[in-house]
Parts: sequence; C-alpha cells; structure tokens
Amino acid sequence: MSTTGLVNRSGIAIAADAIDAFAAGLAGRVIRPADADYDSARRIWNATIDRHPGLVVRPLGTADVIAAVTFARQHDLLVAVRGGGHNVAGRGLCDGGLVVDLSLMRGVLVDAASRTVRVQGGATLGDVDRETHLHGLAVPTGVVSRTGIAGLTLGGGVGWLVRKHGFTCDNVLAFELVDASGEHRTVSATEHPDLFWALRGGGGNFGIVTSFTFEAHPVKTVLGGLIVHARDQAGAVLRYYRDFMKTAPLELTAYAALLTTPDGHPAVAVIPCWCGDMAEGERAVAPLRQFGSPLMDAVQPMPFPVMQSMLDDAFQDGTRNYWKSTFVKALDDDAIDTLVGHANRMTSPLSAVVVEFYAGAASAVGPAETAFAQRQAEYDIGFMAQWTDPAEDATHTAWARAAWDAMQPFSSGGFLLNFLSEESPDVIRAAFGSNYDRLAELKRKYDPTNFFSLNQNIKTAA
Ligand SMILES: Cc1cc2nc3c(=O)[nH]c(=O)nc-3n(C[C@H](O)[C@H](O)[C@H](O)COP(=O)(O)OP(=O)(O)OC[C@H]3O[C@@H](n4cnc5c(N)ncnc54)[C@H](O)[C@@H]3O)c2cc1C
Repeated sequence: MSTTGLVNRSGIAIAADAIDAFAAGLAGRVIRPADADYDSARRIWNATIDRHPGLVVRPLGTADVIAAVTFARQHDLLVAVRGGGHNVAGRGLCDGGLVVDLSLMRGVLVDAASRTVRVQGGATLGDVDRETHLHGLAVPTGVVSRTGIAGLTLGGGVGWLVRKHGFTCDNVLAFELVDASGEHRTVSATEHPDLFWALRGGGGNFGIVTSFTFEAHPVKTVLGGLIVHARDQAGAVLRYYRDFMKTAPLELTAYAALLTTPDGHPAVAVIPCWCGDMAEGERAVAPLRQFGSPLMDAVQPMPFPVMQSMLDDAFQDGTRNYWKSTFVKALDDDAIDTLVGHANRMTSPLSAVVVEFYAGAASAVGPAETAFAQRQAEYDIGFMAQWTDPAEDATHTAWARAAWDAMQPFSSGGFLLNFLSEESPDVIRAAFGSNYDRLAELKRKYDPTNFFSLNQNIKTAA
C-alpha cells in the first residue's frame, strides 16, 4: 500500500489501492499527479490559478459522477467541480482533493420539433451553438464560446440574447443532478421545484449537473459587430449609448467596451447584436452606427455562432486575469466620467472596462421567481484586468480594485455572480441578494455538510 497526492480534509493520504479500485469501476478515467497529462488537466483559463488536485476524475456519464461523489464521501475528500474551466476565481480546481472534471461529457442533442436542447454538464457554449444552429435555433448564453455552459447557467448567464430571451437560467426546463448524497435527481418545475428554483442562479452549491434541458429560440442570422471610436470620444459615445438603449427594441442587446485596439490605440467600442428581422434591424441599429465618426464599423449580418465567438480572441486561454464588477443604479454622467477616468489609467493593453445593459426580458422576471435576484439594476460595469507577465500581477489587480472602489458610490450594491473573482462572504451574499436566506435553507436541506463548498458558497442556515 503506497500513498498518493490525494489527501482527505484532515490531510491524511488516501491509499493507492483505494484509488485503483475506484478507477477500475469507472467508464471514464482518472488522472493522477504522476500522469503525463496531469499538468494540462490542472490548467484552466485563468493562469493566475495554480492548484494541485490529488486526483482528477473525468466521468463519461451520470453513473461515474455518482461513483465520484460516493468515493469522495467515503474518504472525506475536498471536491471541486469543473465544467468549462472559465470561473475567474478558479473554483473548478482544488489543492489535494478531488476534481470532478466533466470535460468528456459535452454531448448536445437538439429536438427541433419541441425546440428543446439537452446539453451535458461539460459542454461549452460553442458546443451548444454548433448543434442548435443546424436547426436555426439558439439558446441564450454568454459571449465567449469556450466558456462552460454549466458554470455560466448556474450563475445566471448573460449574453447577446438577454434582452429578448432573458438570462440563460430563465431558459432551463430541467436539470439532471447528482446531489451531495450521491443520489440522482431529475429537477424541473414539477419535480423538486424548490431545487429547480435554487439551481437557476444559485451557483454550484446544490450538486453536479450532468445535463440541462433548455428551451431554444429561432435565431439563425444576427446583425452584429464592433463600432469603434477613438478613446477621447468615450464620454460622448457612452452617453449616446445610454440614451439610445433606453428606447431600443428588445431584439437589440448592445454592450460598450473601453479597450485597446490590437495595434495599440485606446478606443471605445459599441457592440450591438440584433436578433430579429434583418431589414428592421438595419433601421434600428442605424443611429448607433451613424453617431460621431467611428474609426471602424464592422456591423454586418452574420451566423449567430460567429457572433458568439467574435470576442474569443480577446479572452485567450492561459492569460492572467482579475475581474471586478458592479451593477449601478443609473448610468448617469458622473458614473460615466468616473469609469472613463479609470479606463484611461488602464495598466495593461489586454484589459477592458465593459458596460452591459440588460433591461428587457431579464427584468420582466421577478427577483424571487428564480434564485437569480439581480434583475432590477440595468447596467453592469465590469473591470477586466488581463495580462501575461506574473511579475505584473499586483499592478493590474490594483487597477481593477481601484476602479471598482471608485464606482462604489454609484453601485446598486448588487453584483453578478458569474463575474466575481475571489470575494468576501459579504460580496457573495450581496450577489445572491434578497434570495440568500431562502438559498441557505435549501443548502441545509440538500447539502447540510457543505460537500459542495468550492463555489460562491452559501453557508447553511442555522
Ligand atoms: C472569457 C470569459 C467570458 C465570460 N463571459 C460570460 C458571459 O458572457 N456571460 C456570463 O454570464 N458569464 C460569463 N463569464 C463568466 C462565467 O459564466 C463563469 O465564470 C462560469 O463560472 C464559468 O463556467 P465554467 O463551467 O466554464 O467554469 P468552471 O470553472 O468549470 O466551473 C465554475 C464553477 O461552476 C460550478 N460548476 C461547473 N460545472 C458544474 C456542473 N456540471 N454542475 C454543478 N456545478 C458546476 C462549480 O461550482 C465550479 O466551481 C465569462 C467568463 C470568462 C472567463
């Protein structure tokens, strides 16, 4: 009997023969620290995260997930759950414990007649778009195609269709879940409705989702792309964007971003995505395109999956990242001037400040109808520090923190769960907002020992 890198919560090593017996019972596989692909298995999108799990399990299906939860319970292991590996805080990894890595479970099955899509828990947004697009359908998800559908959906999920079709979690019809006791549950409006409420915005607190069933919508071609202005126009462009979006049809979602162009020029971009009739879209988007003197206008009709991957290059795997965001009560002139001032002090050309406007279908759902409470504040402001040199970590992190601090007078006190880096319990509580206490009750009911602890963790109610 030899020991391994896998230790339990008390730091006691798990014997190799116990791991061998567990591995032999899986249809999928395990990756141990000595294996050649261990280092790639512990690499995630954000390169500032450097953790050494004791064992990585790659299930092939629900039975393997149940086996992994059972094994972890028997040996009192710390467990992390990894979908697409894009959580900014790196909560899909742990040190010493067990990672349940769903990257072999990426199946997507579309039922075009019922406009429903069954998606396994390790799929990326790109996996979903690739299959739904064949049928002229789309599920509202996020804006970078390599992001995991699981983490994104459980945290809410916001993207180019948000104003017309709501948050990703608003489009879930059912979940297949393995809970903290290793039991498989089908969760929907009629089966375990309390869990159905909690999973739509409650993060990874309640179990491992092995598959989602989504409602899809007829979206094939969209009118989208970047309209880029010089940075010295940022104040005027953001004021126009704010006023324009107030009366824009729900088919139009548009973000604004303060960024640096690939050739090094500070810029401000407006990025519209129109998901309705093309001729109507051309008319609706025209004023945004005609405002001021853009350096570039790349807005054009494009297949939805092209829109969905348009920003991929700006968020490359293996860069170093630190994000802060806050909802604001209103995007008034002082708020705009403050955020532009901080964007102008950006310390890395890879960083960005992003302004996102959600009002529409997302705010038509009440804050207590799902676990995702942040539905009233309309603008989310994200400070996304991104760089490559580890020696610069402190500089770029400090920039994002200072920008976020400066925006606090304008903050609604709400935060988007999906965009949190490592945060205090107070910020996590504020992100769940008015739903926190109900979530804590359900955490006590479904996960009383906090087996699923590596997430935006909800403490069990006393
Ligand atoms: C480049 C980039 C772009 C992004 N764009 C958007 C966007 O447009 N809209 C948006 O809303 N968010 C966006 N996000 C945020 C993103 O939604 C969250 O970071 C989310 O957690 C990523 O999910 P993942 O599965 O890739 O993450 P992982 O790191 O794999 O998992 C994160 C957490 O999710 C939980 N989890 C993952 N899989 C499962 C599962 N199968 N069952 C149960 N729990 C699970 C676990 O708690 C885990 O700790 C973006 C993030 C990045 C890095």
